Amino acid sequence: MPAAAGISSISALMAALCAVIGGAVMLSGRRRPSHQTFLYFSTSLFLWHLFSVFRDLRAPLALAALLFVPVTLILFLRTWLRESVTSVDLPARGAPRTIWALLILGELLLFYSYSVSSDPKQAWATRIPPLLKALVVPSLYLSLSPLWQVYRQTVSRVDKRRLLYLIGVGLLAITVTVWEHLPAPIGRGGAALGTVLSIVYLYFLHQTLFLERLLDINELLGRVVVLSAFVLLLSAVHMLLTSILHVEPNQVVTVVVFVMLILYEPLRRFLEAQVQRLTTHERIEQMQRMAELKSTLPNVIEPREAVRVALSVLEETRRLTTASVYLLEADGNGFELVGSFGGRPVERLDAAARRPLLHRLVSRHQPVTLEQLEREHDLYTGRRGSVADLETLDAIARTLVELQAGAVIGIYPTRSSESARRASTVSGSILQVSEDSSFVPSEQLIGLLCIKDERSRDVFASAELDLLSAIAAQLGITVQNSQLYERMKERDRLAALGQMAAGLAHEIRNPLGAIKGAAEFIAPGADGRLPEDAGDFVRIVIEETRRLNRVVSQFLDYARPWRGDEVPLDVNSVIEKTVAVLKPIMEEQASVQPGFVAPSIVLELLPELPQVRGDAEQLRQVFLNLALNAVQAMADKSDGSAQLTIVTGLRPTGRLGSVTQNIEIRFQDKGSGIDPQAMKNLFIPFFTTKERGTGLGLPISQRIVENHGGFIEARNRPGGGATFVVILPCL
Ligand code: ADP
Repeated sequence: MPAAAGISSISALMAALCAVIGGAVMLSGRRRPSHQTFLYFSTSLFLWHLFSVFRDLRAPLALAALLFVPVTLILFLRTWLRESVTSVDLPARGAPRTIWALLILGELLLFYSYSVSSDPKQAWATRIPPLLKALVVPSLYLSLSPLWQVYRQTVSRVDKRRLLYLIGVGLLAITVTVWEHLPAPIGRGGAALGTVLSIVYLYFLHQTLFLERLLDINELLGRVVVLSAFVLLLSAVHMLLTSILHVEPNQVVTVVVFVMLILYEPLRRFLEAQVQRLTTHERIEQMQRMAELKSTLPNVIEPREAVRVALSVLEETRRLTTASVYLLEADGNGFELVGSFGGRPVERLDAAARRPLLHRLVSRHQPVTLEQLEREHDLYTGRRGSVADLETLDAIARTLVELQAGAVIGIYPTRSSESARRASTVSGSILQVSEDSSFVPSEQLIGLLCIKDERSRDVFASAELDLLSAIAAQLGITVQNSQLYERMKERDRLAALGQMAAGLAHEIRNPLGAIKGAAEFIAPGADGRLPEDAGDFVRIVIEETRRLNRVVSQFLDYARPWRGDEVPLDVNSVIEKTVAVLKPIMEEQASVQPGFVAPSIVLELLPELPQVRGDAEQLRQVFLNLALNAVQAMADKSDGSAQLTIVTGLRPTGRLGSVTQNIEIRFQDKGSGIDPQAMKNLFIPFFTTKERGTGLGLPISQRIVENHGGFIEARNRPGGGATFVVILPCL
C-alpha cells in the first residue's frame, strides 16, 4: 500500500517536526507561562501525528490527541497574548472552564464508544468518533478567536496587520488540514504535504514567542520561503528513498529526520538572506519615510510625544524590529525608558554603571554598533596592553545586549554638539576618554536611541545610520526646546505671582481701610461711652473681615499645589449635585436682595456619558463658580427671562492623527455677555467687574480643570449672554 505508507511517513515527519519545535522551546530554558502552554500545544499536535502513524491504534488514540489540539491552542494564544499585549483587555488567562469540561466529556465519550464497540446493541456509539471529529473543525476555528479579540481592540496599525497575518495563516492552515482529512470525494482522505501548513503555523507561533513580538510580512515571507523550500527538499529525499531506492518506510523517516536536522540552519540562513535582498526596494521607501519624519518632528513640542511619533513611524517602516528611546533623568544620574516597540528593554540605564558606553557616545559622537564593536574586538585581541580596552569593549557590548540594541545612537544637546564633534576628530582612539575623567552627561548626552533588526546581522548601512542619527538629533532639539519652554513658563509664573501679590495687597488694603474707618467711629469718646450707631460700624467691621477672609482663603486655594483625589466620576451626577447646592444659595440671595428673581435652570445631560477621572469636590467647586457667575450676570433680569442651561456632551479632539474623546460641559446664560475688555482679562487673578467680586473664581476654576487635563473656554453667544465650556478628557 504505497499511498498509506506515504501518509504514515508524512505523519511521522510531522510528528518529528512538532517534537523538534516543541523541543526547541523546552531546551531554550525559558519558563514563561506562554512557553509552557506552547509546549502543551505542540505536544498535542505531536501526539496526534504520532498516533496517526500507527494504523491499528490510529483511530482512538489519534482522535483522543486531536481533541486536545483546539483546547491547547486557545490556551496558548490567550496566555501568550496576555503576556505580550498589555494594552488590551483580555479575558482571564487560560481556557475557560467550559472548554475543559467539553474536552473531558469528549474524551470520556470516545473512551466509552471504543469500549463498547464490539457490542452490537450499542451500535449508536460508533457514531461518536465521527461526530467528535466533526466538532473539532469548528472548535479549531473558534480557538483563533483570542487573536480576533485582540485585533479588534488594538489601535496600532502595525500590530493590527501582524495580528491579521496570524489569523489569516491560522485559518488557511486549519482549512487545508481539514480538507485533507475529509473523506475522498470532497477532501483528500489523509495527511499530505499541505498539512505542512499547520507545521508552518506552529513554527510561525514559535518564532513569535521567541522574538517577543509579532512577525512582519518580510519576515513571514522569508520564513515561509525557508520552510517551503525545506519541505520540498525533504519530499524530494523522501521520493528518492522510497520510489527509486525502495528503502523501507521506517528507515525513510530516520533519514529524512536527519537530513532535516543537518540542513535546516544553513538553508535557513541562505534563503533568508535572499529574501532580504529581494526587499531592498522597500528600504528606499523606508528611508523616505524616515526623512519625512525628520521634517515633521520639529512641530512637536513635548519630548514624550516626539518620542512616541518617532517610534511609531519607525515601527511602521518595518525597518527595525526593536527600538527604544531613553532620556536623561532630571537629576542626571541615569536614563529613563520613554518609549519602545519590539522587545522589552530595561526600564532604566544607570549613568555610572554604564559609563563605557556613554563615554564612547560622548567622545566619538557616532553611533555604536555591535558589529563595529566585534570588529574592534578582533583588532585588539592579542595586542599587548589591550586588556583594559578589550574589557571596555566587552562592557559596551554587554550594555547593548541589555538594551536589546544592535546599535545605539546618542541624542546630543545642540549646544555641545559642535565642541564634541571637534573633540571626536582630535581623539583617535575610541577609548580616549579615560574612566576617571569628569563626565557630565547632562551637558553632553541627553538621551539614547537604541535600534535593532533581528532579521539579519549585517544590517545598518551608514546612510541609514545617518538618517537615524538625524532623527535622534531632532529629538535632542525637541527635548532642549521643551526645557527652554519649561524655563520660560517658570519665568512667566514668577511674573504672574508678582502681579498677583500686587493684586492681593490691593484686595486686602480696601477692606482694611474700611475696618480702620469703622473702628475709629466705634472708638469710645472722652466720656468712655460708645457712639449711638456703633452697632452699624461693628457690622461693617464684621462684613469686611469676612471679605478679607474670603479673599485670602480663595487666594490660598489658587496658590496651593494640586491635592486632588482622583477617581472615576460621572460628570452628570456631579452637575446634579451642584444644582442641588445652587438652589438654596439662590433662594438666600432672593431673600436678602429685593427684586432678585432666581433664574430657571435647564439641564440637558447626555445619557451614558463616559466617565472622567477627577476629584468630585473640586469639580463641583468649578461648576458652582461658573453657575454663580451666570446667575450673577443675569441678576438684573427680574422679568423671569433669566435662564441658565447646563449641557453635557462629547467633543472629540484630534492631535497628530490620534483622536481623543473629551467631555464638554456648557454653562449658557442669558445675561449681557462678557464685554470685550473683560474678555481679554478673563482668568487673570483678581480681575473682576463686580463691586464685591474677588476675581479669583475663574482662575481657580481654570487651574482645577487644567489639573484634570482639561481646559475652560469662554465666548459670547450670538443672541446675547455668555457660554463657559469646561472640557475634560474621558477616562
Ligand atoms: P468674580 O466673580 O469674583 O468677579 P471671576 O473670576 O469668577 O470673579 O470672574 C471674573 C469676571 O469675569 C467677572 O467679574 C465678570 O466680569 C466676568 N464673567 C464671569 N462670568 C461671566 C458671565 N457668565 N457673564 C459675563 N461676565 C462674566
